[in-house]
Amino acid sequence: MHGLMQNAPLLLTNILSHALRSSPDQEIVTRLVEGGMHRYTYREAGERIAQLAHALTDMGIGVGDRVGVIGWNTHRQLELYYALAGIGAVCHTINPRLGPENAGYVLMHAQDKALFYDATFAPLAAGLAPHLPCIETYIELCPEGAMSANDLGALSYESMIAGKPTSYDWPELDENTACAMCYTSGTTGKPKGVLYSHRSLVLESIVSCLPTSLGCGPEDVCLPVVPMFHVNAWGIPYGALLLGMKLVLPGPGLDGANLHELLIKEKVTYALGVPTVWLGLLAYVESNNLDFGDLKYSLIGGSALSEKLIKGYDKYGVRCRQGWGMTEMSPLGTVNMEPAGFFDKPVDERVEFMMRQGPAVAFVDMRIISADGELLPHDGEAEGHLQVKGPWIIDTYYGMEQNALTKDGWFDTGDVAVIHPNGQMQITDRAKDVIKSGGEWISSIDIENAALNHPAVMQAAALGMHHPKWDERPMLVVELKPDAEADPEEIKTFVNGQLSKISAVDDVQVVDAIPLGATGKVLKTKLREIFKDYVLPTAAA
Ligand code: AMP
Repeated sequence: MHGLMQNAPLLLTNILSHALRSSPDQEIVTRLVEGGMHRYTYREAGERIAQLAHALTDMGIGVGDRVGVIGWNTHRQLELYYALAGIGAVCHTINPRLGPENAGYVLMHAQDKALFYDATFAPLAAGLAPHLPCIETYIELCPEGAMSANDLGALSYESMIAGKPTSYDWPELDENTACAMCYTSGTTGKPKGVLYSHRSLVLESIVSCLPTSLGCGPEDVCLPVVPMFHVNAWGIPYGALLLGMKLVLPGPGLDGANLHELLIKEKVTYALGVPTVWLGLLAYVESNNLDFGDLKYSLIGGSALSEKLIKGYDKYGVRCRQGWGMTEMSPLGTVNMEPAGFFDKPVDERVEFMMRQGPAVAFVDMRIISADGELLPHDGEAEGHLQVKGPWIIDTYYGMEQNALTKDGWFDTGDVAVIHPNGQMQITDRAKDVIKSGGEWISSIDIENAALNHPAVMQAAALGMHHPKWDERPMLVVELKPDAEADPEEIKTFVNGQLSKISAVDDVQVVDAIPLGATGKVLKTKLREIFKDYVLPTAAA
């Protein structure tokens, strides 16, 4: 028997109209690409989103059309998120750090009809243009006077929307209509397209706004440092408006000085980003004798949260909270919400808990599976392939015929994890990064976290290196803090003092810079290339 309730579709335009109704005077602040700051209210944002929707429709963009965006986190990109989705088109955000070859590939694969870009990326757009027959119109995200000189024949965003009506009669779309698209970062093989629907993003946003999920509220001032091309800035452009939070968008200013200025001036209380960003900001604050102003929480995801970050921020009264997810999961999978009274305990007693990725959020199911396909227990010991299921988790990659699921309908994340009896999931590695030594699995994350505790270490990566007896043994690569000096042998003793015998590293190598991938994560594929001729001292012996 069916229930007898209305079957209203779940649409992103509902989030927008709710925000305009309930918090019209709330602020959105942006560090502009063309210099200076921009601030306006939700009400003004709503008017410009409507103007943009008119401009897009006049341009011939309609239901199902994909539109590329290569930009920083700004109010203009936020407007694109809502206007494109609102008219039934797809906002395809592109990571500029993918490099020209992959950026061109994803634009062509998605068959984007128009490309919006920030001035910073004008050379990239101009270089790609001859290879992009699908793109009919180029639009630079700036006023007429700030346009870059090139022969793209691009329109200025501000001129394009100027004078258009400030309201739009949003269509009532089917809730399964596609609205946004991100490609995976393509560290192995070509990037793959993940196509989100209104329904999947609305549900993900509602759950991320639960007090037990991200744990922020309308009184927070939210700074997504995570880029809007990295899984929709982890859903914050939707969640912030749903909650009515003040939103602070950092534009191109992602260095320590710019981020710190924004944190202080805008009284940011809640910020989100990958560990590399937080390591850089911490180093900046420490070396300049500053503090974090009103910042209460930093939500850290994308890579594992380390003890170094937890303790480094704790000294300033800032609480690191860990989340885990992926492009294929829109991205929310877990948030490691603390139990009541948790922060009354000294930091040393909190670290173990905080270094876990956390329990699944509502509507996401997780399981771990052995190499033989056996279901493993949630006992905090058994380590296996992490698989997930839920209403905002991928079914099929864009353009592929076969779905991306196991025979019984789960998505294999490519992560290896344990699940503790209290439901907390803990990633031990990416399946491809696990170090396999004498039949045992060694977690590269454990080694990296131990290395980051060393005062001279800025960034760390553990690799499994061939060993004639054990198959693989761990080797640690470190990048030191600027001006720091340390002896690799001393680092090795320090690191191994924190690890079990089997995980102890056989060697430490210091490099000038550990390569980072398109979303600020350590690029192990590149490191493996660099060390392809390397032989472990223990293997040579
Ligand atoms: P992406 O799709 O680029 O966001 O990458 C998703 C992958 O990032 C996951 O499958 C994990 O391997 C990794 N990841 C995300 N969050 C975390 C976390 N909190 N700890 C460890 N790894 C993470």
